[in-house]
Amino acid sequence: MKLVYTNPNHVLVENAKNLVEAIGISTRIKNEYLSAGIGELSGIDTWPELWVLNDDDCDKAKQQVKPLMTVDPGPEWFCDECEESNAAAFHSCWSCQTDKPK
Ligand SMILES: [Zn+2]
Repeated sequence: MKLVYTNPNHVLVENAKNLVEAIGISTRIKNEYLSAGIGELSGIDTWPELWVLNDDDCDKAKQQVKPLMTVDPGPEWFCDECEESNAAAFHSCWSCQTDKPK
């Protein structure tokens, strides 16, 4: 297993997972539930983490989540069509490819 992506914003980690799994890579999220209730004291150790099960997939997975790392996350937005939450970096819905509402 290799760590691909981590972020305090759980939505972004979920989005990263969906992006990576969309190209057929198996992933696991660690620390998914730890941050609840810990509040302001939580350090990076409690951030949700996206791991790939197969080390060989790590490079491909990192390419896939690059948009999430290079752009200021900003607020997430919700798809008009399917109501999924999307990271601000996405210009279209990860789930149904509908364009981000203006
Ligand atoms: Zn959608």
